Amino acid sequence: MIDGELLSLLVCPACKGPLEPAAAEQEEELLCRACALAYPVRDGIPMLVREDARPLRPEKTPR
Ligand SMILES: [Zn+2]
Repeated sequence: MIDGELLSLLVCPACKGPLEPAAAEQEEELLCRACALAYPVRDGIPMLVREDARPLRPEKTPR
């Protein structure tokens, strides 16, 4: 688990925006909504590397 204090220090390496935690099937991920990327968390360590990020499926944003 990533605690909120640590999470508040983390930003997306691509856009410097806030990240939000998400639970994937087995492991945690940190999502950047702006970039639509999910960064993996391995052994509790966020892998904030663009190359490691997984693209999120575009969701329909009501607007
Ligand atoms: Zn981003």
